[in-house]
Amino acid sequence: MGKTPDFHPLVQTDLFIDGQFMAGEGETERILNPSTAEVLALVPEASFEQVQKAVLAAHRAFDTWAETTPMERSRLLLRIADAIESEAETFARLEALNCGKPYLRALEDEIPAIADCFRYFAGAARCMNGSVAGEYLAGHTSMIRRDPIGVVGSIAPWNYPLMMAAWKTAPALAAGNTVVLKPSEQTPLTTLWLARVVADILPKGVFNVVCGRGGTVGQPLVEHPLVRMVSLTGDVSTGRKVLQSASGTLKRTHLELGGKAPVLVFDDADLEAVVEGVRTFGYYNAGQDCTAACRLYAGARIYDRLVADLSSAVKSIRLGGQFQEGVEMGPLITDRQRDRVASFVERAQMVGHMEITAGGRLRSGPGFFYEPTVIAGARQDDEIVRREVFGPVVSITRFNDPDEAVALANDSDYGLASSVWTQDAARALRVSRKLQYGCTWINTHFMLVNEMPHGGFKASGYGKDMSMYALEDYTVVRHVMARL
Ligand code: NAD
Repeated sequence: MGKTPDFHPLVQTDLFIDGQFMAGEGETERILNPSTAEVLALVPEASFEQVQKAVLAAHRAFDTWAETTPMERSRLLLRIADAIESEAETFARLEALNCGKPYLRALEDEIPAIADCFRYFAGAARCMNGSVAGEYLAGHTSMIRRDPIGVVGSIAPWNYPLMMAAWKTAPALAAGNTVVLKPSEQTPLTTLWLARVVADILPKGVFNVVCGRGGTVGQPLVEHPLVRMVSLTGDVSTGRKVLQSASGTLKRTHLELGGKAPVLVFDDADLEAVVEGVRTFGYYNAGQDCTAACRLYAGARIYDRLVADLSSAVKSIRLGGQFQEGVEMGPLITDRQRDRVASFVERAQMVGHMEITAGGRLRSGPGFFYEPTVIAGARQDDEIVRREVFGPVVSITRFNDPDEAVALANDSDYGLASSVWTQDAARALRVSRKLQYGCTWINTHFMLVNEMPHGGFKASGYGKDMSMYALEDYTVVRHVMARL
């Protein structure tokens, strides 16, 4: 297991293949601290041959792993959860360093949810159910099986690296599959630490980590004929590429793509709760979240007060480095992402009817900081309303009647998450029913639990993470019929 002595002592840089730690033989990626732009580590990516090796290892491990009982797999997943918890501070520190996110948010929000994800699937593996076996044709007994699929190639994004690794790995392993996981080339550090934790728990080959870029490592993984399923969380354009690559071998795909969550604020909403909710969930993780509360629609009577109160609340968000006391929001992941966000705001500024009522600037100094921003007066056809920014930018659009609000919210390429804010319970349920989003929150936003599914439709993809639905996604339904 190699350490990079010149860098942070927690940093591991080796790939994990067939139970062995080994240096990547491909090009080297510089891993940055987004708060300072300093290099945290140099991680050599996997060569083409190493990707093949990882898939073969997972393929060899599959038969034995698939034969284990749910109870055995459950026991091991529970051990992984315990190990993550006992190393919570290390994981949180690495995640904060690599992503720029506030350390306490990683420690208190993410790590407990990640450990719980492994615990949930440890239990869920033992509780799958389905149709009753019986004689649906006279003299023949039919039964339904749900079997593992084989090797799963999992590809994760950079915004929640360890959580995405957990969402992909826990259900896949619980169902009896083996996994080759590729973290984002920008954020491999917690996944590499996870490999170190898992190495002592799982049989060799069951879980493998290959680092590297999408084109050089992700694509060969997707195209490999022994990979039976590909699970991607990433951008819509990456989803399209993965679908194309997977089409050659007709493999099962599980896609979690972007989002542009509408937030419907009706005139009777509790304004204070809305402001507090959007201040938190529009800017959490610097808005680099596919469910971020970023596209507000406000009733005509509440609109002006919402713009004023939200703008002043957003100005009070404390921007800073990961370990700074009281920090609420960190930098963006790269200078490229920050410039991308800045260019969205600049283009919005050039359109006459919009006004930047908070933020709208880069923060000078090192690191990739961008001020939390509110854009008022946005209209449905504006780019800022239609495209995913993936940064700390919230737009507000006025609506005149409730039906119009639902139509505006649904008029989007995306279909991942949404929220409705009103004190009228019947309206909340009526509107929720009509919203074309994988999740609708009422008088809140962003909250996730491992028992409930996360996933969208339309351009947001179609895989479900968390919950029994994820376990179903990672299994194949089979019918066995016996002539008696
Ligand atoms: P990205 O699409 O650039 O990268 C995601 C992963 O795909 C990375 O590991 C990357 O190396 C890999 N990849 C890129 N090209 C590939 C290819 N041709 N073949 C195989 N793999 C390839 O996304 P990102 O910038 O890391 O993350 C941000 C995006 O992720 C946003 O659009 C966001 O909305 C989305 N996201 C969605 C969810 C969700 O649950 N729906 C959650 C988090 C992030």
